[in-house]
Amino acid sequence: MNHVFAASPTVSVPVAGSERSFPIHRIYCVGRNYVEHKKEMGFTDRDPPFFFMKPADAAVPISHGAVGEIPYPPATQNLHHEIELVVAIGTRGRNISAEEAPGYIFGYAVGLDMTRRDLQFAMRDKGRPWDVSKGFDHSAPIAPIHTLEEVGDLSNAAILLDVNGANRQSSDISKLIWNVNETIAHLSTYFELVPGDLIFTGTPEGVGAVVSGDQLEGRIDGLGDLRVRIA
Ligand code: MN
Repeated sequence: MNHVFAASPTVSVPVAGSERSFPIHRIYCVGRNYVEHKKEMGFTDRDPPFFFMKPADAAVPISHGAVGEIPYPPATQNLHHEIELVVAIGTRGRNISAEEAPGYIFGYAVGLDMTRRDLQFAMRDKGRPWDVSKGFDHSAPIAPIHTLEEVGDLSNAAILLDVNGANRQSSDISKLIWNVNETIAHLSTYFELVPGDLIFTGTPEGVGAVVSGDQLEGRIDGLGDLRVRIA
């Protein structure tokens, strides 16, 4: 049977140094995964990782060297930047151990988990889902994916975000509470991971508001930059 209208196109992320692209299946995100960010959000407990999702078509792929553009979203007065390491899954699996996890990784990218912080706090305080604060349109700018073969070990790498040339976030991947392999292990107990899944692994401290006209420049050593202007 034919569809009643054309299916929405799959969003794909370019693979750096290649003509190929990575078609997105799902976008998983880890909450509060750096100690200093957890503190700035008002938490000091040490819990297992927790997850939320963004729709796949919230992704905005942006090439290295380009300045992408996202609109300032409606229904917020407090749009925040969260620079994050993104893991791209290349192999199907569930109940993956941390030791086996590297075998499921296709590559890594720099991403931004844009957040309507006012709505997030309002939802959090009422015990409601975060979707309107995290899963809105254009909420996941992402730079090209670099393959695991190219990047190698990424357990130590600087992660930075500047806004209009001034540094806002500066940390290191080694400061993740739950590292990439442990995150894959936990997530795969809840969901079968499949090729095309992306995992935003959480943001370090220094999150803050941006307004229309601001230019964000994120970077993770070994993965290049991600530049976005708020329209
Ligand atoms: Mn985040």
